[in-house]
Amino acid sequence: IPAVDFDKIRDDFPVLQQEMNGHPLVYLDNAASSQMPKKVADRIDHYHRYEHANVHRGIHTLSQKATDAYEEARWKVRDLINAENQHEIIYTTGTTDSLNLVVNSYGYKNLSEGDEIILTEMEHHANIVPWQMMAKETGAVIKVIPVTDSGDLDMEAYKALLNDRTKIVSVVHVSNALGTTNPVKEIAALAHEYDAVCVVDGAQAVPHKSIDVRDLDVDFYALSAHKMCGPTGFGILYGKKHLLDEMPPYRGGGDMIDKVSFEETTYNVVPFRFEAGTPPIAASIGFSAAIDYLSNIGMELIEEREYELVEYAVEKVSGIDGLRLIGKSDTRASVVSFVFDDIHASDIGTILDKRGIAVRTGHHCAQPILRRFEVPATTRASISFYNTKEDIDRLVDGIEYAKTFFE
Ligand code: PMP
Repeated sequence: IPAVDFDKIRDDFPVLQQEMNGHPLVYLDNAASSQMPKKVADRIDHYHRYEHANVHRGIHTLSQKATDAYEEARWKVRDLINAENQHEIIYTTGTTDSLNLVVNSYGYKNLSEGDEIILTEMEHHANIVPWQMMAKETGAVIKVIPVTDSGDLDMEAYKALLNDRTKIVSVVHVSNALGTTNPVKEIAALAHEYDAVCVVDGAQAVPHKSIDVRDLDVDFYALSAHKMCGPTGFGILYGKKHLLDEMPPYRGGGDMIDKVSFEETTYNVVPFRFEAGTPPIAASIGFSAAIDYLSNIGMELIEEREYELVEYAVEKVSGIDGLRLIGKSDTRASVVSFVFDDIHASDIGTILDKRGIAVRTGHHCAQPILRRFEVPATTRASISFYNTKEDIDRLVDGIEYAKTFFE
């Protein structure tokens, strides 16, 4: 018997109680941003009304209280992803910011001309462009692991790319365009054989499964709060302490320093060295509440529930005549991406929207993988634990309707 009644869980989300264009909202754009339960919104509201003060600065009690609440997310994330210690948890503004931090701090310090960075063909632009910018300046070289027709990584090709010049292997854990879950434990172990560090973009993994960074033995792991029932503008970079300790700061300003004079500045310890300026305090506090919310349900139960819904969705949409799935991996999490040869994705998306169904259409900030599958855009439904089989049925009806509309 499940400890959680998933049929009632929708009541926690005020946004889902609305009508959109005259229909009850079906929200299937969770990979872009997941919805916020009332408890999280209330917690942020409470902070703004009664607890607001700047952190790490004030001698006064209100500031100390705000600091305590703000710092809590470090422990919560540590436990959520099983990091060894809370100093390995750096606050950022999201996955993009986390990856830029690794590139600009670790990357610039450790890579030079001819050194190699391995990415995959299914990366989000956030895990391509920062490396490319750095490679252009340093002369480092980017190599790309190809993707098979099923949407899985070609692991033999990966092994063939590794060599003594490989310094970085940076991969997405779950692809936001295909839904594929990559074998990051194996990828990291192989990278380590060549003394390369393994960076993981976990933006689409942490919301859907239980993550153990120590078991995976990855060196850096990035995530965003807004994809896991939390607020926008907040994210995390996990890094192994011995690596972070050797990394220079990436941004300068208040809070990241030890002593400042015009002659010389010394820096704060990790993680504060990487957190210049007044941080997103309310967002951190909201993220703590979001982690509490998810943990109360349990990530294993969330994974189980979503697996069932995703299986159902794949089975149902596969039955639609002319629909082609983009990404058919057995490891799929949350994302169901598809195309029709004769109907543009944005037309499908527009018709679904008129029926109250929110999906994403386009290239999903992952243009190289769409090019790999020779499509300019897909329609993407992305599922969360608060979705239902009725949501999927409404999606399928909507797609069937769109087809009749265009035929
Ligand atoms: N990587 C992946 C796989 C993503 O899906 C996203 C969000 N679309 C990002 C990185 C970037 O996350 P954010 O916009 O929160 O920085």
